[in-house]
Amino acid sequence: MQNTVTPTHCPYCALQCGMNLTPAPDGAVEVGERADFPVNRGALCGKGRTAPAVLSSRVRLTSPLVRSADGALAPASWEEALDRIAEGLRGTRAAHGADAVGVFGGGGLTNEKAYALGKFARVVLGTSQIDYNGRFCMSSAAAAGTRAFGLDRGLPFPLEDVPRTGCVILVGSNPAETMPPSLRYFTELRENGGTLIVVDPRRTKTAEQADLHLAPRPGTDLALALGLLHLVVAEGRTDEAYIQERTVGWEETRAAAMAHWPEYVERITGVSVPLLREAVRLFCEPEAAMVLTARGPEQQSKGTDTVGAWINLCLATGRAGRPLSGYGCLTGQGNGQGGREHGQKADQLPGYRKLTDPAARAHVAGVWGVDPDALPGPGRSAYELLDALGTDVRALLLMGSNPVVSAPRAAHVEERIRALDFLAVCDVVLSETAALADVVLPVTQWAEETGTTTNLEGRVLLRRRAITPPEGVRSDLEVLHGLAARLGGERGLEKGFPTDPEEVFEELRRASAGGPADYSGITYRRLVEEDGVFWPCPAPADGRLGAADAAVRAVHPGTPRLFLDRFATGDGRARFAPVSHRAIAEEPDDEYPVLLTTGRVVAQYQSGAQTRRVDELNAAAPGPFVELHPRLAERLGAAEGDPVAVVSRRGRAVAPARITTAIRDDTVFMPFHWAGEGRANTLTNPALDPTSRMPEFKACAVRVEPVEPV
Ligand code: SF4
Repeated sequence: MQNTVTPTHCPYCALQCGMNLTPAPDGAVEVGERADFPVNRGALCGKGRTAPAVLSSRVRLTSPLVRSADGALAPASWEEALDRIAEGLRGTRAAHGADAVGVFGGGGLTNEKAYALGKFARVVLGTSQIDYNGRFCMSSAAAAGTRAFGLDRGLPFPLEDVPRTGCVILVGSNPAETMPPSLRYFTELRENGGTLIVVDPRRTKTAEQADLHLAPRPGTDLALALGLLHLVVAEGRTDEAYIQERTVGWEETRAAAMAHWPEYVERITGVSVPLLREAVRLFCEPEAAMVLTARGPEQQSKGTDTVGAWINLCLATGRAGRPLSGYGCLTGQGNGQGGREHGQKADQLPGYRKLTDPAARAHVAGVWGVDPDALPGPGRSAYELLDALGTDVRALLLMGSNPVVSAPRAAHVEERIRALDFLAVCDVVLSETAALADVVLPVTQWAEETGTTTNLEGRVLLRRRAITPPEGVRSDLEVLHGLAARLGGERGLEKGFPTDPEEVFEELRRASAGGPADYSGITYRRLVEEDGVFWPCPAPADGRLGAADAAVRAVHPGTPRLFLDRFATGDGRARFAPVSHRAIAEEPDDEYPVLLTTGRVVAQYQSGAQTRRVDELNAAAPGPFVELHPRLAERLGAAEGDPVAVVSRRGRAVAPARITTAIRDDTVFMPFHWAGEGRANTLTNPALDPTSRMPEFKACAVRVEPVEPV
């Protein structure tokens, strides 16, 4: 075991906080402050501080598991397990065709893994059926950002710009719980005289710190943004010169906004006209301002248009592509940004290239050494892929995801997974999804392997191996190499799947060169020396990808701030999107009269597969709950802690009542980190956004019932 201090990054959320890891003599790993890393300056939340607990957890998998004839998962050798997966995938392909084999990835996978997984699906399996859980995270913001600016990068500016702007509207974002160290940026903003507006149906810990909290009915923030834009126009606060010079499509968008009178918007959203006026004043008076969205507006069946409406507000007021101003998305998962750039998304190739673009296909096929015509086309989006399991898609390789807990309409998804002919899962613990697999492969964790991630600012970072992995586990890259040898050894395909992450990254550089997310000027050495580089970062124009690092750096320093001169569209102008209010897919009615919205708590992460295995985090957040307003609780006759049932058209979940005035009385809230009877995603609606294919996690109709304690 190495015994030096290794600077690296947290395995969890998109902030990718810097931390130091030191192996202790007793085999534990100590987490230390890394004050020199600018994003978190040493601060960590409880999840980051306790992350090493999963490395040595007693429930950590250290042997492959193969389902035996009696139906139980039993320890097996790596050779046996990989042979069994190859057999399962090959057999399905032979019987039902290449597209009967699916691949499901994750937004927590490193760039190298995401890249290798996408290549594996398309080159080795020849399937179009690959997508990943990041589809559930930021796909609406990605679609809206691409539509407006020609390019999607979560934040087009570094977080350090936030305290220096004049006003931030945080829409459907609760960083006080999702990424606590980032809260200081908003605190500093206010200390500097700026203002913070929070848009959230709940009075969250973040909303409590805001200058203005707007609490719209869930799923109505598109209308809210339109109402604000209406007032901006009516009060003469548009930036006409900017609109003229830097945008396209204003007249249609203006007309759409003017059809949304403030009084009409008040009726839809429940936010009063004076509050709308105050928000407009706070947003428009300063020289610079930002809108930052997160899952609230994005996880809707109209998420792309909802985000588009907030982008319209930025464009009409001249806020995008100017210093200390603009629109940005606060990505959620650890590699939510990089995970969507390198090919595990159903419609994309590495470098954020479109799979349908002939030039992109030719470039990537050239790097991969395959015929471009042999590359499959776009496949199903995440929920559609999960919904097709057991029917069109009959075998699945899953890496870095736990859809039994995290997918919408989760009981149905679980049923579809059970209907598969074959399931292989790579994970570090026996997650709820892994428990259903035919083969489970135990893989290395963040501190045991090297790889890059791209944080919510588009800053590419190097996570470094700090400790030796336990006996019995292998990296995801080794898994793909082993499977490529078994499924394409006669063609030498395993040579295209190196197990050394830096070698994979070198190929990723070539594959991304010239694409929207160009990493070709970034090397591991630069990442060590510079502690992160913002993409796009192209290599020298003469293609000297192998040039000395100093030469590469001299040519391109990386791009912390995008769009200052022009947007990434053909003519350099941003696109307005003329959008109108639409109802959520499932409005409350007599049978299901209440709205459900879901979200997170500070001590758990995503499906909880890792954080539910950490004692300290479990003590802080031991299980699900149903947050409801005292008036609703009174109608139900429910007291604090009483079990209540939340029922939607898709199922029933039971959890203790948490009674609070922090939520609207027409809405209940459940966190989604748990399985079992309190699984919130049993209830959620898989209605999809037509563009981003994002499910409507954030609003569905439910009824709430008292439950007699047993
Ligand atoms: Fe890790 Fe995110 Fe917490 Fe930072 S905020 S320590 S990256 S979970």
